[in-house]
Amino acid sequence: MRDNRPKDGFVEWGMFVIDVIVVGGGPVGLMLAGELRLHDVHVLVLEKLAEPTGQSRGQGLHARSVEMMDQRGLLDRFRAVSEEYRVGGLFGGIMKPWPDGLDTAHPYGLATPQPVTERLFNEWVRELGTEIRRGCEVVGLDQDGDGVTVGLADGTHLRSRYVVGCDGGRSTVRRLLGVGFPGEPAKVETLLGEMHLTEDPATVAAVVEEVRKTQLRFGAAPVGDGAYRLVVPAEGVSEDRTLPPTLEEFKQQLRAFSGTDFGAHSPRWLSRFGDATRQAERYRVGRVLLAGDAAHIHPPTGGQGLNLGIQDAFNLGWKLAAEVRGWAPEDLLDSYHAERHPVGAAVLDNTRAQIALLGTDPGATALRGLFSKLMDFEEVNRYVTEMITAVGVRYDFGEGHELLGRRLRDVKLKQGRLYELMRGGRGLLLDQTGRLSVEGWSDRVDHVVDTSEELDVPAVLLRPDGHVAWAGEGRRELLDGLCRWFGAATG
Ligand SMILES: Cc1cc2nc3c(=O)[nH]c(=O)nc-3n(C[C@H](O)[C@H](O)[C@H](O)COP(=O)(O)OP(=O)(O)OC[C@H]3O[C@@H](n4cnc5c(N)ncnc54)[C@H](O)[C@@H]3O)c2cc1C
Repeated sequence: MRDNRPKDGFVEWGMFVIDVIVVGGGPVGLMLAGELRLHDVHVLVLEKLAEPTGQSRGQGLHARSVEMMDQRGLLDRFRAVSEEYRVGGLFGGIMKPWPDGLDTAHPYGLATPQPVTERLFNEWVRELGTEIRRGCEVVGLDQDGDGVTVGLADGTHLRSRYVVGCDGGRSTVRRLLGVGFPGEPAKVETLLGEMHLTEDPATVAAVVEEVRKTQLRFGAAPVGDGAYRLVVPAEGVSEDRTLPPTLEEFKQQLRAFSGTDFGAHSPRWLSRFGDATRQAERYRVGRVLLAGDAAHIHPPTGGQGLNLGIQDAFNLGWKLAAEVRGWAPEDLLDSYHAERHPVGAAVLDNTRAQIALLGTDPGATALRGLFSKLMDFEEVNRYVTEMITAVGVRYDFGEGHELLGRRLRDVKLKQGRLYELMRGGRGLLLDQTGRLSVEGWSDRVDHVVDTSEELDVPAVLLRPDGHVAWAGEGRRELLDGLCRWFGAATG
């Protein structure tokens, strides 16, 4: 692997020392940086904050993200610090048992607070040789046919071949590109924070249970070492949600909804979030792309934002690496928008549906009751759970085998497991016939001859993100699949 550390003349004009600048060192930027480094791409992550905030917004990884961690050899690290959960209630808080028969070998989520996820990603990308520059805010962007010039707040400039804006919901990159962000503005606002309470835990639990009968945006849950994570509706919708509430404002809202502020004191952090729902019109403009919250924002119902964002990065990483390495077929980079924009739009829609179900008016209450009954049907429960956990995602690769476009679940092989073979982020031909070949693509695609009792197809060609690019046994069709996704043969 090439040395990715800064070199003398790093900022030198006209030299494409940097392949990709990732703007934003949140979970999505870090995931993307790791994916690029697997392909020896020279990545620089620019993060405006000098230190992480420590604020725990995302609460965990859903099943598809758990699979991705396994595919990159990161699962043991996550499991070592996370509780496994198999509870229903992922959709609109409607409590149902975890459904049987989910299409995954990892039918569970991991309760991993966002700062822990970010710490683990930081460790991983640093091991892969990524440079992360903190305290570095991007304020300008200018692209031409050869690359992108990135302006920093300190007045200096950097030059790279590509830039990816992973800079969150208020993305500067998106704004500088002039990409529209249509959708609905925030109608309600919620206060969120971690603090200590003087009230005894049993009383806190009883009050929360009572208030939640009519207000589902109210909650208090212990987070360890005596502190609680609290949510409560704000009084109105603020102009600037980057301004945190004061403790007094928080306590006033607690009293307004429950009659008590639980003796809240010593906040670790306080914040506010809205329910705005928006999506970038384009995920790519020339050499600049958008991923994560920079590309889509929606209410946190169902806990999907971080998951959706790191799944964007998983889709984009190998494609951008293929461009940089020079073997990308035409349209490969554009397939990022073509595949991920509809997935993002579907998540926005499911959060809109959840918000409607969370209403307190008689119509919403009746709808919630009806939906709750429908979810007693195992198939409905499974459909909804596969939607929220993203294991149901299928990209449109055209007509073909039923597996085409879906990501393949982990399967046991005679020698080991499928996901253990995907750690390097390369393509993979899993060949149960022993008669196929990837000659001409072996620098990009691994060929594994093995069999699995769980796989009812002679062979599958997997993209680096685990989605099925081809399934069958014909050599001619396999060649088409290799050319379509991995470019021209070499040698
Ligand atoms: C209350 C709440 C609960 C949530 N719960 C869940 C959950 O349970 N599950 C889930 O999946 N998701 C959840 N989410 C959503 C999740 O937190 C976000 O989707 C996730 O943080 C998005 O990651 P990101 O990397 O795209 O953006 P961010 O995490 O916002 O990171 C963007 C980074 O870019 C940096 N940056 C911004 N501008 C610049 C610039 N100009 N130059 C350089 N750096 C810049 C920022 O400092 C930041 O570090 C929740 C969100 C909220 C508000």
